Amino acid sequence: MKFSQYFLPTLKEVPSDSVIPSHILMVRSGMIRQLTAGVYSYLPLGLRIFKKVEKVVREEMNAIGGCEFYLPALSPNELWAETGRLEDYGDDIFRIKNRELVLAPTHEEVFTSLAKPNLISYKQLPQIWYQIQTKFRNEPRPRGGVLRGRQFTMKDAYSFDATWEGLDESYDKHAEAYRNIFTRCGLRFFTVSAFSGAMGGSESEEFMVEADAGEDTVVLSSDNKYASNIEVAVSHSENIGRKDSNLPFEEFHTPDIKSIDELAGFLGITDRSRLAKSRLFVIPAKTERKKDEYVLALVCGDDEFSETKLANKFAGIRPGHPEELLEIAGADAGSIGPVNFKNKDVKIIADLRLENADELISGACKNDYHIKNIDLKRDVPGVSYMDIRTVKDGEMSVDKDSTLRMTKAIEVGHIFKLGTRYAEALGAKYLDVNGKENVIIMGSYGIGIERIAAAYIEQNHDKDGIVWSGEISPFQIHLVSVNKKSDPVKASAEKLYNELTSAGYEVLFDDRDDISPGVKFKDADLIGIPLQLVVSDKNMKNDEIEVKFRKTGVRERIKYADILAGIPNLMEKL
Ligand code: ATP
Ligand code: MG
Repeated sequence: MKFSQYFLPTLKEVPSDSVIPSHILMVRSGMIRQLTAGVYSYLPLGLRIFKKVEKVVREEMNAIGGCEFYLPALSPNELWAETGRLEDYGDDIFRIKNRELVLAPTHEEVFTSLAKPNLISYKQLPQIWYQIQTKFRNEPRPRGGVLRGRQFTMKDAYSFDATWEGLDESYDKHAEAYRNIFTRCGLRFFTVSAFSGAMGGSESEEFMVEADAGEDTVVLSSDNKYASNIEVAVSHSENIGRKDSNLPFEEFHTPDIKSIDELAGFLGITDRSRLAKSRLFVIPAKTERKKDEYVLALVCGDDEFSETKLANKFAGIRPGHPEELLEIAGADAGSIGPVNFKNKDVKIIADLRLENADELISGACKNDYHIKNIDLKRDVPGVSYMDIRTVKDGEMSVDKDSTLRMTKAIEVGHIFKLGTRYAEALGAKYLDVNGKENVIIMGSYGIGIERIAAAYIEQNHDKDGIVWSGEISPFQIHLVSVNKKSDPVKASAEKLYNELTSAGYEVLFDDRDDISPGVKFKDADLIGIPLQLVVSDKNMKNDEIEVKFRKTGVRERIKYADILAGIPNLMEKL
């Protein structure tokens, strides 16, 4: 490709609306331009890179027997209503105003509805169906360029199995394909077990790339044996134990004290573990459960609640509203506690660190009052204990072999065992060997195409630009001609360009006239193609050309006559 014919608008300046390296570099190197919040135009260089990522993904999906489809983004409302997700997605789904249609944020519904009339016998199973297609999500805070777009490309795959063992196999195949994909794309990644959110599945893993720009917080153990999303991470945390003083519980006045910090200050203590944080949660009524249910949850004052862990135990749980707090507990947030509950129909759960603890201080269920010497064993009959706290940086791993650290990461892929959630809702069934109808068992597997490229740049850039390598580099060679209009330098660079491209190399040839060598070199570093070749007057005098390795900045000279034969050798050194 000749630079003079290519549309490659590089920028010297950092665009004002971008803060993270991959976004800045994608705009500066002429890969993308923003149309509106979270919506990007892919310029030729960007598209070329995304297509390379797609090629890797497609090859690995085909290698596990995946069949490629292309399903529409527009889909009818009623399909989404059938699985309940029209409502679950809320404002995050794009709705077409003048039609009963939505723009699909994912394709469980559409693929399952296609499977329903077409996969009807055990003889047709298992199947792996996938597509590389545009998704639309009304992300509330699109940021970081294509890392979180409102329109983006996803490879989404779905497995259809007759048995649960079959699902395990399909899932493992995808895990293997994903490892191959991310390795071939040059990402340093790890996997974490994850909560599957609105998907409603059981087992699921996320593929993560450690990067400051990441929006997920993950917990990693120092021996690399444990990695988990913070939302569900566990650690070895000491039970705070009993003091066994058997002091009677006692109410005391705490005017205007709302938070644990204020309470600790008021009492003049630094150890907050015995200041039990109490919060009221509501499990809203569903048709099969007539009434709302209430849960009072307790964690140590120096801990935080994990709402995800709570949600994994009690589906649909949400924090109580102020009016509910008053009605059920008889007090505002900040004065609630496990004893003196106004409404006795409340389930009380406490974090494992609090198991059988005594001498606790918590709200009195009466505004501006707290109670001390609460003994969970003595005063709170029926309390149950479970892990509901958020892990903290520096804690010990569960096996006590290492310490845990927290870091930011980008989720590049996600695999779920969906089970029968969608097939059940949409009635996708097959006939087994005995002619009996069974619900198809499904898995779902997603990868963000642009997000892979962005995550790669987050991990592979320096002050001058991007450092591409391997299979997703847009070109293999960046050939720079340091010429004035049309002089012999340009002619010999052009000759080399023709030889290299005929030999099958992908070459970006900077043949621009009237552009200074300095600008050409800066552009080459910004775009980041791994191998740079420079043809200049100075080098030509010695019949040489200059080679620069983008990653290390190391330069060599090589005889013009040897260059073609020498390329494989140079590529070895990358
Ligand atoms: P996130 O937690 O980042 O919102 P998600 O859990 O919603 O991701 P999935 O629904 O599992 O993501 O989608 C599969 C893959 O699609 C993700 O692993 C990610 O690579 C990509 N992806 C999801 N949302 C976006 C987005 N808004 N922009 C770009 N890629 C995305
Ligand atoms: Mg999301």
